[in-house]
Amino acid sequence: MKNYTFGIDIGGTNIKMGLFKITRFELIEKIEIPTPNIDHATTIFDAVIHLANEFLDKHGITYDEILGFGFAIPCPVKHGYVDVCPNLHWRNIDVIQAMQNRVPDHVKVVVSNDANIAAYGENESLDIPHNNAIFYTLGTGVGGGIIVEGEIIEGRTGAGGEIGHMPIFETNEICGCGKSGCLEQVCGTKAILNQARRLIPYSQTILKSEHLKVKSIFDAAKHNDSVGLKVIDEMGKYIGLSASILAVSLDPDVIIIGGGIAQAGDILLNSIKKHYQQYARFNTINVPIVLAKTGNDAGIIGAARYSMKA
Ligand SMILES: [Zn+2]
Repeated sequence: MKNYTFGIDIGGTNIKMGLFKITRFELIEKIEIPTPNIDHATTIFDAVIHLANEFLDKHGITYDEILGFGFAIPCPVKHGYVDVCPNLHWRNIDVIQAMQNRVPDHVKVVVSNDANIAAYGENESLDIPHNNAIFYTLGTGVGGGIIVEGEIIEGRTGAGGEIGHMPIFETNEICGCGKSGCLEQVCGTKAILNQARRLIPYSQTILKSEHLKVKSIFDAAKHNDSVGLKVIDEMGKYIGLSASILAVSLDPDVIIIGGGIAQAGDILLNSIKKHYQQYARFNTINVPIVLAKTGNDAGIIGAARYSMKA
């Protein structure tokens, strides 16, 4: 009987891993360790197996009860294959093969890009999971994932769902991707701080340019501070615009807003909705836009849920 599954979120700095009970989808235990920084092609998988064996011993579980291992990784991946992953120093790695060499044959191994995995997990964590969902993760960078007919859209090379790099405005500044005008350049952490700093000298505001934090900008907005409100309006405008373009292309059931910055909550959500409705067309005007639910564990939850996908 397959009662348990693992969700693993592999980042450049840390590996997070959770053991989940499948019925009622319950997190039994989770752990976070530094990502090994030598011989990455083998040590990362060895570390995952080591942690898995510790969990199994501790809880008296055998591999016969394990459904699988779901992985979220910080780079494009296609059918489990990674060409290049700078954050993990990987080149030409077959994640599924590497894991299957280390676990019994009946244990399933699945993998996708971390934002795609978060998209899958957030959609599955909604009260009613949908077949078609667009997910934004707002943080230092802006990422996303697209679910169509229940499937993650990896695209031709695994770069599907990179909605943070949708070209959406004119600027001479260069984005991390090498191009300019990306959504991330107006809605990522750096852009938010820069915009507030540009406005502060000309505005009546409680905010100060020194030691400025994104959270203080949102908190100020909640108290009707002019700079805070302007920054949120700008984010809402560009996320709303990009979402309307995706919606008219994909006709989704839901748009989900997640990531650390989404903790700003309703004030940001309402701004996105307002602008989205101005840009949206046809029936896409009625697409619900909701906040993500799973928070910091989005990676391990999504990865575990992806391993449970039929
Ligand atoms: Zn870019």
